[in-house]
Amino acid sequence: MANRSHTAALVVAAGSGTRAQPGNIPKQYQSVGGTPILGRVLRAFLDHADIDIVQPIIGARHQALYESLALHHPKLRPAVDGGETRQASVLRGLDALMHNAPSLVLIQDAARPFVSAGLIDRVIAALAGTRGVAPTLPVSSTLKRVEDGRIVATIDRTHLEAAETPQGFVFSAIHEAHQKAGSAGMSFTDDAAVAEWAGIEVRTVAGEAGNIKLTTAADIAGADRRLAGEDLLRAGEVHVGVGYDVHPLGPGSEVMLGGVAIPHTRGLIGHSDADVVLHALTDAVLGALGDGDIGQHFPPSDQKWRGVSSDRFLADAAARVRARGGAIAHLDVAYIGEGPKIAPHREAMRASIAKICGIPVARVGVKATTNEGLGFIGRGEGVAAHAVATIRLPFAP
Ligand code: MG
Repeated sequence: MANRSHTAALVVAAGSGTRAQPGNIPKQYQSVGGTPILGRVLRAFLDHADIDIVQPIIGARHQALYESLALHHPKLRPAVDGGETRQASVLRGLDALMHNAPSLVLIQDAARPFVSAGLIDRVIAALAGTRGVAPTLPVSSTLKRVEDGRIVATIDRTHLEAAETPQGFVFSAIHEAHQKAGSAGMSFTDDAAVAEWAGIEVRTVAGEAGNIKLTTAADIAGADRRLAGEDLLRAGEVHVGVGYDVHPLGPGSEVMLGGVAIPHTRGLIGHSDADVVLHALTDAVLGALGDGDIGQHFPPSDQKWRGVSSDRFLADAAARVRARGGAIAHLDVAYIGEGPKIAPHREAMRASIAKICGIPVARVGVKATTNEGLGFIGRGEGVAAHAVATIRLPFAP
């Protein structure tokens, strides 16, 4: 047997998640707390000291979505394409792990982003004494058998428990069990069931009520609120910052506003991409932190900032908030210009700003006005933006 300490995690993300996909984004690629669900799940295993290798299994048509997670980690293996069913996908993932010869494997559903380090610890620890482990929780609701909208039986829930993931196994045992189940045409809804069928004893460890499976759009919205609320509640003090920026208009065919390229008859002139909206927001966040301004952190005299995309300025300011143990509660920006029209791009700008800062879209406001033809803005010589950032920080005497 291979070295017992070599433990792999298989993250099954090949589903198309049709019950929770506004805008056709499969649920594992939707965000909670500003981070895609799959990114959170992978991160939980990549960050765990006892996991040596992480193997994602993705949908064959989700390659571009997966690339957009931009995850890089020495433990992360290239994603493999899943099969027609969850079970077929797991088998492909186990096959892909073969040449790494892990001694143990934890198999995790991508739709459970709240998997804790403590649960991973318990599953690995229990594998010291058995070949299969599943976290379970007693069922608390009374269970009914329902046919045609009528209860036909009440099920005795004594001994009934609901299974979660990660489920852990001795690698060779579960790999062989999956190969056999696949050849026999047997289909199961989790890996513990495959193991049971193959005669592998599966012991239970305590699951966690918070380790929920996100199935519907309502589940995802609830998880988003829970994460945003947790960050904000940790930090009680309210700080507000303002930001203002101006850039001249010049020759060009598009302007960058809020990180979105908007076609226009002119362009914005500046050292970076001249995104006044992101510059004003960056100064507002830095102002709320009492941490200087954009020119101090990214001096225009420094050639390395020439032509750069301004999202990195705002992302840096948002990272400074997190580094202080805080959270961005709200961002609001007012763009002032005689063009281009902002309304058609407002939602794209809100989504872009939210993504840069890792906050829900509901916490971003974008507005625009003309200057009624007055002054330098009215004459079309330039545009401006005002921004307000409300952040929460831990109390600092
Ligand atoms: Mg500027």
